[in-house]
Amino acid sequence: MYPRGQLESQLEKLLDDPLYGEARALAVERLNAAVADRMESLGTPVDERDEEMYMLSYLFSRLILSAQADTKVINWVGVTEALRAERSLKGEETSTLLYVSEQLGVPVKAVGEQFQVHYTAYLTATKNLRTGKWKLVNRGVVDGKVMLDQRTLVRMLREIVVEHLQDLPELPGKLGKKVLERFSNDMENMQVMAKERQERALRELGQLDFGKAPPCFSGHLADLQEGVNLPHPARFFLTTFLTALGQEPEQIMQLYATAPDFKESVTRYQVEHITGKVSGAEYDTPSCSSLISQGVCPGGNALCREIIHPLSYYRTMAEREKPDGVKRKRLRLAAAGSGDAKLWAQLPLKAPADAPPRSLAAALRADGPSRVAVQVEYFQGKRTKIDDKYIRWASARLVDDTVARSVEALPLTQWELALPLAHAKSRGESVEVTLLPVKLGNQSRLHVLAVG
Ligand code: SF4
Repeated sequence: MYPRGQLESQLEKLLDDPLYGEARALAVERLNAAVADRMESLGTPVDERDEEMYMLSYLFSRLILSAQADTKVINWVGVTEALRAERSLKGEETSTLLYVSEQLGVPVKAVGEQFQVHYTAYLTATKNLRTGKWKLVNRGVVDGKVMLDQRTLVRMLREIVVEHLQDLPELPGKLGKKVLERFSNDMENMQVMAKERQERALRELGQLDFGKAPPCFSGHLADLQEGVNLPHPARFFLTTFLTALGQEPEQIMQLYATAPDFKESVTRYQVEHITGKVSGAEYDTPSCSSLISQGVCPGGNALCREIIHPLSYYRTMAEREKPDGVKRKRLRLAAAGSGDAKLWAQLPLKAPADAPPRSLAAALRADGPSRVAVQVEYFQGKRTKIDDKYIRWASARLVDDTVARSVEALPLTQWELALPLAHAKSRGESVEVTLLPVKLGNQSRLHVLAVG
């Protein structure tokens, strides 16, 4: 181990040494890959020399991140590198997993095919995953220990790796200056890519429309507009959420102007601080688990059960803005490709205003759409993974007293249709739908075009 001063001068030398040009280039490439969200393009080391270059490239990438101090880029790189680590850990032997856990500061013991971890270490490592199966009550604690299978252990390690990667050392002035000089062009390039990624993400979110927002946002926004004094975590959430939707601090300020305790200078400082305008550090929108633990989540709806972040909710609701061709393709993918190509190519997506009212039995025999009052016998949110991205959709079975058994609907990829069906199911109420009977192979299905 070098004393600190010596370590700095060693690092400065490495920054200039022609022998390590490959590692420096690789460092920039791995950062670019994370910023551009294309980690797949990075290879894996094939021999010992490669291993050394990858290790050094990691070190250089940490120096660059620390000197650049861009929270957004640091977060992206942390998450992408952790996913990469998770992928390689999945195939590792038990002894390697125990070693890596130890190195990451979480001692783990192998018990048969399972792994045992102290509950305090588990709680710290999973603090951002506090829902469903991650809740301690759902895992069970015996003698202060939690049992995890290999997959869960590796997922937990991913969380710890993200934290480690985001915790960067501060660079002393001289070394920081040198890193900035050496990589200034690469950093500029990275900023251009970061801007492109943000623009792409904004496009995916579609037009600004609060009708796509989750209950946590809509509820608190309504409270704010009625003059309710919101606690800090709720304001923090609203501000980060609106920033992620591309809203400027000035527009966000206008929303807070109705709050009973509104003080322009204080609110401006808070908003500009959170949005990164004064601090340079832009805060991310908290995940559902954080919002739940802070009491900001009012309790989710059926779509909330399929997502882990409020922005995923908003993005999923933006499905309705996709071009018709994309909507049909995604419907077909959710239906696992069944049905012939002609059916999907010609499937109508809008309900006619003049669909006649019918019973479900008559609607199944009709040539066109019908309006039918139905009960929702079954409703279930689903996810289909396509090329590393999810299509979130719902499966439903509808019934009335003119049919002997309920009929399955085509996948519901439009959640503004799925949510009222889930609501009707949970309340045991009937709901009016406009639907078209279709054949998938020799099976009758209902294509829901409108609800209510
Ligand atoms: S589950 Fe998530 S998205 Fe849904 S209301 Fe709660 S915090 Fe918001």
